[in-house]
Amino acid sequence: MPTIVCITLFLIMYFFLRDDNKDISYEQPECIACSGCGEKVSITYDYCPNCKEKLKEECNHCKKMININWRYCPYCGTTKENR
Ligand SMILES: [Zn+2]
Ligand SMILES: [Zn+2]
Repeated sequence: MPTIVCITLFLIMYFFLRDDNKDISYEQPECIACSGCGEKVSITYDYCPNCKEKLKEECNHCKKMININWRYCPYCGTTKENR
């Protein structure tokens, strides 16, 4: 029954590749586009390594450093008032 063998192999490959892709995407650091130069920079950076643009600012409410492009603080849910 070669068809069953093919389907089985396909399913094994499918699950193997899917798990592999998931691991790769999980390990990649999240990137954002710099508002100054458009360069992709790590979400963990406070300043762009390419143009020194400020990428984060202090939340008005909880004082945590958050992405300057975000509309809401991810820590306390406060809407940013200055943008
Ligand atoms: Zn930049
Ligand atoms: Zn906050």
